[in-house]
Amino acid sequence: MGDCGERGGASDIECREIAALLGDYFDGTLPNHTRELIEFHIDGCAPCVAFVNTYRGTIAATRTLPETPMPAELRKRLLSVLRSERGSQTPPRS
Ligand SMILES: [Zn+2]
Repeated sequence: MGDCGERGGASDIECREIAALLGDYFDGTLPNHTRELIEFHIDGCAPCVAFVNTYRGTIAATRTLPETPMPAELRKRLLSVLRSERGSQTPPRS
């Protein structure tokens, strides 16, 4: 059932599923098994190769600014400052 046999491949994932999963694929949040399925499919599917290339280009375009995560130390100090300020204005009920 559902076996069109066009490519005769063992891929049990479809192009539209590839498109839906690419976001997670590039985020690296997919399980290895799913990644392998995607790579296997793309390997033998020209339209998907083109789609992946377009997707990569889009990601590159949206990531022109490098991400600079806030250092843990700074974050801790900021939080403590925020807490102490709030605490001085409205003392916590107990
Ligand atoms: Zn495909």
